[in-house]
Order: sequence, then C-alpha cells, then structure tokens
Amino acid sequence: MQLDFNGKKALVRVDFNVPLNAEHQVTDDNRIRAALPTIRHILDTGGAAILMSHLGRPQKKRKEDGSIDREKFSLRYVVEPLSDLLGVPVQFAGSTVGEEARAKAEALEPGQVLLLENTRFQAEEEKGDPDFARQLAALGDRYVNDAFGSAHRAHASTTVVAQYFEPDQRDFGFLMKSELEHAQKLMEDTSKPFVAIIGGAKVSDKIQLLDSLLQQVDHLLIGGGMAYTFLRAQGGEVGKSLVEEDKLDLARQLLEQARQKGVSVHLPADSIIADAFSNEAGHRQADSMSIPEGWMGLDIGEQARKAFRTVILDARRILWNGPMGVFEMPNFAEGTKAVAQAVADATTQGAFSLVGGGDSVAAVNQLGLAGAISYVSTGGGAMLELLEGKTLPGVAALED
Ligand code: AMP
Repeated sequence: MQLDFNGKKALVRVDFNVPLNAEHQVTDDNRIRAALPTIRHILDTGGAAILMSHLGRPQKKRKEDGSIDREKFSLRYVVEPLSDLLGVPVQFAGSTVGEEARAKAEALEPGQVLLLENTRFQAEEEKGDPDFARQLAALGDRYVNDAFGSAHRAHASTTVVAQYFEPDQRDFGFLMKSELEHAQKLMEDTSKPFVAIIGGAKVSDKIQLLDSLLQQVDHLLIGGGMAYTFLRAQGGEVGKSLVEEDKLDLARQLLEQARQKGVSVHLPADSIIADAFSNEAGHRQADSMSIPEGWMGLDIGEQARKAFRTVILDARRILWNGPMGVFEMPNFAEGTKAVAQAVADATTQGAFSLVGGGDSVAAVNQLGLAGAISYVSTGGGAMLELLEGKTLPGVAALED
C-alpha cells in the first residue's frame, strides 16, 4: 500500500462475513485473520482504522414481523475475537452511518480501531446508493478495500464509496492485492498441463466458468452434482442423481467445444450412490453411467478418485473449485478429501495450485492441507467471476 496513513483515519472495507453459532460465537475466524495485515499496517504507520463489513443477508432473512434481525446479524460479536487477534481493543458503533458512527469516528486517535455495524442493515448498501456511500466516505480520509469476497458486488461500501476519494487517497489492501495477483498468476502462467477441477451442485452456476476454462486448460475434471448432467447428456442412466434437464444441450455443447479445443474432459467413471439424500442412507459403489433407478450419485467412486489423482499429479497448474460430492455428509466426503490430498501432493511436486470456493476451501482446511496449497482464496463468487474473465466492480473502482 502506497498510502500515507500518518495521522489519518482510514475507512477500510473488510470481509467479516463470518459464521456465528446460536451463542453468537465466531466458529471460523479465517476471514478476520485475513484482514489483520492491512489493519496492522495502518496502525503501525500512524493511522486509525474505521472498519466496515457486511454479515449475512439481513435484508433477505428478515424476522417474521418483517423487521431486520439486528441481533442475529450484528457485527458486535466480532469485536471480541477481533480485539484478541489484533491485540488492540476495538470500539464499536451500533450504526453504520449517522450520529453515533460520526461521533466515534471523529474521536478516533491514531492507533485506535472502530468497527461499524453491518453495512447491510441499510438497504442503501446493496443498492449502491451514492448518498449512503458519501456518508460513509465522510467518516475517513483514506479508503482501503480489502474485502475481496465482496469485490464482485457494486455495493456502496465496496465500490461506490471509492469515488469520494482522490486516486492518491484510496488503495487495495494486502489481502485484495494478494488475491488478484494469485488469480493473475494462475491465468497468465504458461506452464502446462493446466488442470481445472470443477465440482459443486449445479452446471447452471458455473456455465461461464466452464466456458472460460475450456479456452485455457488441458484437462477439465468434473465432479459433484454437476457431473450427472454431463453423464446424462452422454446417454448415461443416472437414477435420481441431480440432473438439470434444461442444461443437457448445453452440456453436450461444452463437451463438443472441449473436443474441438483438444481439452480432455474427465467425468467420474464410478460413483458412491445412495438410496436417499442423507448421510444415513444405504450406499454403495456403482458405474456412473448405469445408476439404478431410485439411487443417486453423491460422491465420486474409487476408480474416479484414482483417475483424477493421476491427472492432478501430472499437472503444473491447478485450479480447484467445488466439492466432488456432498462433502457436508461424512459418508460422501471421501472423494473431495482425495482430491484435496492430490492437489496438495501435486503442489509439493512443484505445481502452482489455487483453491477457491466455500466447500473446497473447507475441505482443504479440515484436512490441515492449506499450507500445502499454493494459494487458498477467501472469495468464492468473486474468485469465480475473476476467473471467468470479468472485471470486478470493487477492483475497477480503485483502478480508474
Ligand atoms: P457449489 O456451491 O456450487 O460449489 O456447490 C456445493 C454444494 O454441492 C454442496 O452443498 C454439496 O453438498 C453439493 N453437492 C456436491 N455433490 C453433490 C451431488 N453429487 N449431489 C447433490 N449435491 C451435491
């Protein structure tokens, strides 16, 4: 960061969209940790930090009476873990803008930290409202965006606010910069084979990603629920596995496009099939092209794990997004774990690997393999859009 923070108040958009349990305890503090280098830098160079973030979807998940759940989605429960991690007591403003926020921001001294209440408590946030953005901007004299996970949203605090700061008063934070550099490295590096492993529930969520990857990769490994639409499109009997009937033509087109480009598409030869969508369901292994009626594929089978591992170990560049099965259920988590291990082993052998997206990142973390991956992204949707070749509004706002 080139900005001078000495004696200045930096308004910092962070991504503190962390999971909280029923007792309001933060159950995974990775996103808080990821923002620490930027906050520390501001404090160490003589500045004060005013932090803002969203948490969950308070506008969508309203209470029965239609009001916003200011308890469930409050950022005040982040104050304690943040203070502990930072080693600095963090102040809290119960509003995002308005009198309390203004007064507390005004009184902030160098070395101090203020966290504002959830930006999404204001409907103006997601609308990218300029007035709301101007009120936020008035709280600080520098703007830093370190919320990579929200950079694909043109919201007031992630994008619109930047225009109220001169180019020499605003910048990317360290996390944001690192995410962008690693994504760029993955896409611009020319080492081959380039292997993309794509999983997750639906083809429809990842059409553009698949389309974009087909222009670049040598091998495309497809697992998770979306594999069954491709298997069905090739005439497979997939029982009651997840199939998007309206995407069968698209799946055929993608496979044809891959053939023309010389990209090898690998679908799971076998699956762990279950007679119900439950961890307790009866399950066994089966050929993915002939899953009996009434059964569904919930994980990739052993043959598929071996085949995927062979391709992954041969890679020089790896992108992984999305689980290979219903990772949340232990009986269907093994395929995802095997892929995580293979990506880590390939990285140890010298490949560059980037893992992005909630469940694949969770798998890597649960297995303690994060240190063995070249880069574990904090941004699911934002990383996907970046890899699809899109310009992220939060990034563009700082580059203009
Ligand atoms: P995504 O957010 O698109 O990466 O999808 C993640 C979700 O896909 C997880 O909740 C998984 O449970 C789900 N998923 C993965 N494999 C399957 C499958 N074979 N059948 C149904 N859902 C799946």
